[in-house]
Amino acid sequence: MDLSERPQHQALRAELRAFIAAHRHLAPSGRALHDPQARAWQELLIANGYAARTIPRELGGAGLAPDILASRLIAEEFAQAGISPGLGGQGINMLVPTLLEVGSPAQKQQFIAATLLGDIVWCQGYSEPGAGSDLASLRTSAVLDGDAWVVNGQKIWTSTAIEADWMFCLVRTEPQAPKHRGISFLLLRMDTPGIEVRPLVDMTMKANFNEVFFSDVRVPAGQIVGQRGDGWRVANIILKNERGSLADPNLSLARLNALVALMQQETVDGQRAIDQAALRDRLMRLQGRLLGLQFNDLRLLSAGLNPGHDDARLAALVVKLQGTELRHEIEALAIDAMGEGGLAYGANPYLRDAGSWQVNYMYFLGLIIGGGTSQIQKNIIAELGLGMPREPKVAGAA
Ligand SMILES: Cc1cc2nc3c(=O)[nH]c(=O)nc-3n(C[C@H](O)[C@H](O)[C@H](O)COP(=O)(O)OP(=O)(O)OC[C@H]3O[C@@H](n4cnc5c(N)ncnc54)[C@H](O)[C@@H]3O)c2cc1C
Repeated sequence: MDLSERPQHQALRAELRAFIAAHRHLAPSGRALHDPQARAWQELLIANGYAARTIPRELGGAGLAPDILASRLIAEEFAQAGISPGLGGQGINMLVPTLLEVGSPAQKQQFIAATLLGDIVWCQGYSEPGAGSDLASLRTSAVLDGDAWVVNGQKIWTSTAIEADWMFCLVRTEPQAPKHRGISFLLLRMDTPGIEVRPLVDMTMKANFNEVFFSDVRVPAGQIVGQRGDGWRVANIILKNERGSLADPNLSLARLNALVALMQQETVDGQRAIDQAALRDRLMRLQGRLLGLQFNDLRLLSAGLNPGHDDARLAALVVKLQGTELRHEIEALAIDAMGEGGLAYGANPYLRDAGSWQVNYMYFLGLIIGGGTSQIQKNIIAELGLGMPREPKVAGAA
């Protein structure tokens, strides 16, 4: 399709620049959850059609018709300006699109607007001690008892569980069924009696994820999404959205621009880092890879207009693998460009950009694993994208 900008898109670009210049002082600087400033910013973006664009008004969105070029321009302009494009996270990026696709009318009403505004913060309860890459082996059980599911078991690596209001969760409801068909998808309040959250400190030295224990937790029977035993299908809709959202090329572009600015300021042996051949060479390679991902993104946007068309399947599969590894390498180059200063961490007067390079370097190493490891992504690309033979199953596995 023709992706060149039309007059209305040029007008939108001008409108966006004017909006950003007039309102950028209102944008939140961090990613704090339950932050009133972030909520107000999100509300302003939705009111102007810059966030939740295509979500119906009655569900809290801007209610606009899909316009892939407009969405792209908005993402680009916020990235170029280096300001927040609005709230994200597991609720908005993963659960909302899934509820739009398979949620009941009551679930859409209850959760979508509140999630878009950050009033409900979600966590994702998938992984368990014995079920990560092989997620369908999960064992946390839910047994129907009158009008409630009774949940018992344990989740692990649950990001933001300690701050979350609700969890979307995979549980085994049909223990006799083959493993992929015995799973259901539940929504549960994190303050339900019987839930215990224990923070886990990761290599950033922060407790970004947690263990969650369930002991006879009663969840109203209506808080199931899709049918009983249909949770694997729902889970895969979520994973599709998760893998795309973990590696947004527009966020990487904002980071690459910040890296260029850093390399213009930092000096190595009296020379600007950006003028050092080895560092500059790495920067250009990263720029080339980012351009590749941006064009890949255009291909996906274009395919979004023809949902039945399978052309972009491979393009969608590479996003998580390529995007998280690229982002990790962008942060790594900044650390190298800072020389000894790159080793500073925590409260240190030599930190640049509040230490965000060091934190993100480690955080993105984690995201190469989270949402499905790079090895698993390569398996998926080989099997679903390139049509290569499926990985042999262990004897007896479903
Ligand atoms: C930062 C971060 C945030 C996370 N947040 C969440 C969250 O919010 N909610 C949630 O539910 N989970 C979360 N996770 C968990 C994440 O989804 C799992 O860690 C991931 O799926 C891998 O599972 P595992 O840790 O059990 O590793 P394993 O599955 O045990 O894998 C161990 C190693 O073996 C390799 N391996 C396994 N199977 C294969 C295979 N078939 N072929 C080739 N190699 C293989 C893997 O690639 C990996 O290198 C998070 C993880 C991280 C790091």
